Amino acid sequence: MAFMDNSHSILTNLSRDFLALCQAQVTLLTQNLNAAWVGVYLTEDAPKKSPSTNLIPAYFYPQSNPNLPFLSEQENQVLLLLHGQDQVEQDSSLPHDLETKINRHNQIIMPLLYEEIFMGLLVVRRSESPWNELELSQIEKIATSLAIARSLEKSNSWYQQKLRQLEKFINFQDHKIDNLLHQLRNPLTALRTFAKLLLKRILPEDNNNKVVQNILRESDRLRDLLQQFQQEEKSNSSILELKGGLVSQTNFLLPAQSSRETDLIAIIGNLLDSAIAIAEEKQIKVEGEFGKNPVFVQGNSQAIREVVSNLIDNAIKYTPNGGQVKIELIKKEKYQGIKITDSGYGIPLEDQDHIFERNYRGVQQLGEIPGTGLGLAIVKELVEQMQGQIELISPNELNGTTFVVWWLAS
Ligand code: ADP
Repeated sequence: MAFMDNSHSILTNLSRDFLALCQAQVTLLTQNLNAAWVGVYLTEDAPKKSPSTNLIPAYFYPQSNPNLPFLSEQENQVLLLLHGQDQVEQDSSLPHDLETKINRHNQIIMPLLYEEIFMGLLVVRRSESPWNELELSQIEKIATSLAIARSLEKSNSWYQQKLRQLEKFINFQDHKIDNLLHQLRNPLTALRTFAKLLLKRILPEDNNNKVVQNILRESDRLRDLLQQFQQEEKSNSSILELKGGLVSQTNFLLPAQSSRETDLIAIIGNLLDSAIAIAEEKQIKVEGEFGKNPVFVQGNSQAIREVVSNLIDNAIKYTPNGGQVKIELIKKEKYQGIKITDSGYGIPLEDQDHIFERNYRGVQQLGEIPGTGLGLAIVKELVEQMQGQIELISPNELNGTTFVVWWLAS
């Protein structure tokens, strides 16, 4: 018979859960309904109108009789009639006496159908009394359970396959990132060496001394970020980790959770210098008056620096030439905040709900200012990790944007 052909491929794909369900349903049929023989036949996906005849016995009872999984010629006819096939192959290997015996049984052939997909057949026989209405409806319910279970099993194996593809893709991306990191390291070291050389040649009183120091500091920051990224990769918590079919995401971010105390003034002081230098090119005035006394907040210094520098960079980036950026320290209850105000383009109301989402750029997506839409997402995540808060006001008193970040004061 044609339907026995690829029995191995299907049988080896069956999960233990599905077989356990078959067993439970067959017990119901034999113990409650006195079925003498039960067979569950499965097929590959086939729409109702053109089913495949590739039926493979997946589970049968009793399992001791090796002949029973085969369907008789007559049964195959019934099956094919049910599903509109007209070609029947004769099975000469089926013992003649078995066929006659089978025909004497009260036999039900129930299609396993779920969402119009034909998944196979449930065949039930018993030699005593014919089946009554109630029993038939019970068999129908059992067939439905089997069809649903089979369909779940199929979608599960589809997801497993997709997961394997995803895993391959991630490995490939990891490889690319490794190469990129490797290639970045050399020019970065060169940049730092040149900056150091330059620093030696410039007198401390020279105005450019500060600029070179800033180049050196920023390249150190880049080096630290690269090192941290590589360490995270090594310690096996790379960007995406697939474990037992579960996808868990560990973002590459700075260790913001640290409850260390950090002086905001020291951080802003450094950032202000580079901000003024960058803003000069656009004739933007950057204002920020801070005393000499430290202002301590709870949070990791690298994370705080990342947050403030992103917000200042954005303020300058999204403010047209000749504009203004103000940086202030403010206080409320147990919080210490930093307020960054610009006279720039502002953030439209409809963008404000999404602006902290990864890769969301709102109106600027269509503009000419380059960006990735990652900065604010990182800022928000870091602030939340530090148990801080972030507020957005746009338009502000200068018709631009204001961001306020609050940290727990120490
Ligand atoms: P990027 O600047 O790379 O696009 P961000 O995550 O830093 O990414 O910002 C997301 C979006 O928020 C920007 O594309 C821009 O539309 C808007 N935005 C952020 N800061 C400002 C600002 N100070 N003024 C106006 N728009 C801003």
